Amino acid sequence: MESRKVVNFSPGPAKLPEEVLDRAQKEFLNYNNTGVSVMELSHRSSDFTKIIGNAEKDLRDLLDIPDNYKVIFVQGGGTGQFSAVPLNLIDLKEGATADYIVTGSWSAKSAKEAEKYGKINRVLPKTDKYTVIPDQSQWKLNPDASYVYYCSNETIHGVEFQFVPETNGVPLVCDMSSNILSKHIDISKFGLIFAGAQKNIGCAGATLVIIREDLIGFADPVCPILMDYKTQVGNNSVYNTPPTYSIYIMGLVFQWIKEQGGVHQMELNSKKKSSLLYDIIDNSNGFYQCPIERDSRSRMNITFRIGVNEEDEALEKRFIEEAHQSGLISLKGHRSVGGIRVSVYNAVHVHEAERLVDFMRDFQRVNQ
Ligand code: PLP
Repeated sequence: MESRKVVNFSPGPAKLPEEVLDRAQKEFLNYNNTGVSVMELSHRSSDFTKIIGNAEKDLRDLLDIPDNYKVIFVQGGGTGQFSAVPLNLIDLKEGATADYIVTGSWSAKSAKEAEKYGKINRVLPKTDKYTVIPDQSQWKLNPDASYVYYCSNETIHGVEFQFVPETNGVPLVCDMSSNILSKHIDISKFGLIFAGAQKNIGCAGATLVIIREDLIGFADPVCPILMDYKTQVGNNSVYNTPPTYSIYIMGLVFQWIKEQGGVHQMELNSKKKSSLLYDIIDNSNGFYQCPIERDSRSRMNITFRIGVNEEDEALEKRFIEEAHQSGLISLKGHRSVGGIRVSVYNAVHVHEAERLVDFMRDFQRVNQ
């Protein structure tokens, strides 16, 4: 399928691969000769059982998920997991606490939510200026914590971990909502990984959870039944009606990633797209400025300000408007930080990032 004229750099819900949309459209009214749409299939039908089973199998292949990990598809988004994680894991040890490595708005929100259910230790000093992931040698992790929590890519600030924290046996929990399947990861280093679908792996509605078997079955008695991982694992994600269409789209995205060459190819593409963008920023003589320290820069969400060595909000507004007129959309930074944010998830092509780079070069020439 031809790529579309508009390039969507939205942080999420975000661009989906053209091939996925094309296939979903072809199958829309009559899925697999059932005569109905996936949306109309029972979640207990053999067709849907195959859809969810294949999605899990393809994900296991893509991430090389070991057998002692369970995969579930749930509702409630990333935010639902901010509650589900402490409700399920805080009681792994009696009287224990959880360590939270807060490096941006999403891990901050998650830590705040977790405080309702247990004692939380914020590993890093409190700040609202998230521009760096401090070196692990500066952290003090509690060896008796029930788990250590972090967000591998902070979507709002554009800060990304370039390493997996070392926790000396304490289960590691990671919010990978905005960078899952964009790079190789060793699943065996994690106790639990979760990711909302609407950025790198599909459309809004479904959330993926990968959990090590030995962490299942410790939910607090007040944990809502739907949030109890034991319920979801024990019922293959169909304890109640799951977000069937979103799971179907996720499955198509996994197939697409496989066809493209897997996670390895996604990683190569993402290195290329992000370096194209960081290069033009760094070589602009201060016209574009990225506030994030080099070793902490995200390959998914590239944030920057515009102005000759200082922020110029009027110029940023013009940038967003003119880019939009050129078909380059959804570039406005998050309302809490301002500026520009370019989200280059897996579905964004290298040539689409190049189109934006060309626009940025012209914009600087005219407005400097
Ligand atoms: N975690 C990260 C890293 C996110 O970027 C987001 C949303 O953008 C969330 C969690 C919250 O996800 P949801 O809106 O699905 O609850």
